[in-house]
Amino acid sequence: MRAMNYRGPKRIRIEEKPMPEILHPQDAIVRVVRSCICGSDLHLYNGNVPDTRVGSTFGHEFVGVVEELGIGVRNLKIGDTVIVPFNISCGECVFCKQELYGNCQEANPQSSAVGGIFGYSHMAGGYDGGQAEYVRVPYADVGPTKVPKGIDLDDAVLLTDVVPTGYQAAEMGGIQKGDTVVVFGAGPIGIMAAKCAWLFGAGRVIVIDHVEYRLEFAKNYANCEVYNFRSMKDPVQAIKKLTDDLGADVCIDAVGAEAAGNAFHTITGRKLLLQAGSATALEWAINSVKKGGIVSIVGVYGPTGNFVPVGNIVNKGITIRANQASVKRLLPKLIRHVQNGIISPRELITHRLPLEEVADAYRIFSDKLDNCIKTVLIPSA
Ligand code: NAD
Ligand code: ZN
Repeated sequence: MRAMNYRGPKRIRIEEKPMPEILHPQDAIVRVVRSCICGSDLHLYNGNVPDTRVGSTFGHEFVGVVEELGIGVRNLKIGDTVIVPFNISCGECVFCKQELYGNCQEANPQSSAVGGIFGYSHMAGGYDGGQAEYVRVPYADVGPTKVPKGIDLDDAVLLTDVVPTGYQAAEMGGIQKGDTVVVFGAGPIGIMAAKCAWLFGAGRVIVIDHVEYRLEFAKNYANCEVYNFRSMKDPVQAIKKLTDDLGADVCIDAVGAEAAGNAFHTITGRKLLLQAGSATALEWAINSVKKGGIVSIVGVYGPTGNFVPVGNIVNKGITIRANQASVKRLLPKLIRHVQNGIISPRELITHRLPLEEVADAYRIFSDKLDNCIKTVLIPSA
């Protein structure tokens, strides 16, 4: 089969790989029909995730058709089209029982931190991902959900990650009626978090980024205020000014570890060559939330170079909430929101490319070319 293949930082290509096989009675083999590239893939692409091995296939956001089933699978039939959550979860361990499906112990027993994730390095279990014609889906009775009525394939693929992660970012913010919410990052996740902040009763939603076309998109899609941090001398002071000198009630970090060259420093207001893995947006979030406020982090961080102003967290009495999204927990509610037109995820998709063009697709998304918000690969019809 054809599959995306990692060769090293910023080096990927399409290659022939062996077909995945059923390795366990609870496995399914899925023929992929839509597969997205995520901001999380950029951490892998840039070589910032430990134990990302040459030869691996990325892709944790996909929908597809069930082609083969292990003898133990009860809930699926051959031919079903399924939404596959990006978290791999057993449904039985102590964490899955608490609906912390992103923290499943069984899917990635080597780690006491992250659970299993499709196509996300050996740090997250070493599973191959769905930027391929076919993919093996473990615990097939637990995660995969049949694409329901009123949900098309483009909506469905964004329900594997973007919608639940944006929603959970807002949910973890504990937004109260009338709150001012500041979202850092106008990528797909930040845009969706801004959209969802209104569902929790926000009174004002502000999105910060430095890519103009993304800010424009966020403003239209999520009906929020937007600011370019390059035009702010000091983003933290600017946010204070916008919030009666108190700071925001809730700040959401939808940036994570920035790729080298993206970093921007609070004090000098100039672009600095900070190391990949720096946490400027998180620093801004902590420093611009009001005393007693909440910082919700969905941005993904690597182990190196993270700068967190712990002193300010303590002195300001901030609550920090963070996690990988628990997709399975949120799916039933979010499917209804899409069916009822409350959220229209597919509008985020700006680019559709065949799987064969995966290298170009990464470049366009990573370099923010051609007004790209979200890219979908189409391996087969
Ligand atoms: P993306 O790369 O498309 O978007 C990130 C945006 O942040 C870009 O538009 C960039 O210009 C902007 N940015 C960079 N530095 C900034 C700064 N200092 N302040 C404000 N904005 C800044 O990525 P995405 O797909 O939207 O994902 C966002 C983050 O969420 C990534 O770290 C990704 O790994 C993470 N993520 C987490 C989960 C989860 O379950 N927790 C799921 C999906 C994605
Ligand atoms: Zn993702």
